[in-house]
Amino acid sequence: MRAQCVICDQVDRIDSHSLLAKQMRKKRKMSYLCDECNERITDKTNKRKQSNDFTFYKTDEFDDYI
Ligand SMILES: [Zn+2]
Repeated sequence: MRAQCVICDQVDRIDSHSLLAKQMRKKRKMSYLCDECNERITDKTNKRKQSNDFTFYKTDEFDDYI
């Protein structure tokens, strides 16, 4: 199947039987990022995490309230 990256609009071919393709069919809202954008964002996020003015919120902390 084909998937379009939400950031750069690049259309990639992904394996229809892959886990990613199955997840995208099931949850239509899930956005697809191409490898290039994914890498760039991961890089930026990691750099921000290292700086002091970025607080990383862990979702685990909210489990007690459910
Ligand atoms: Zn992209």
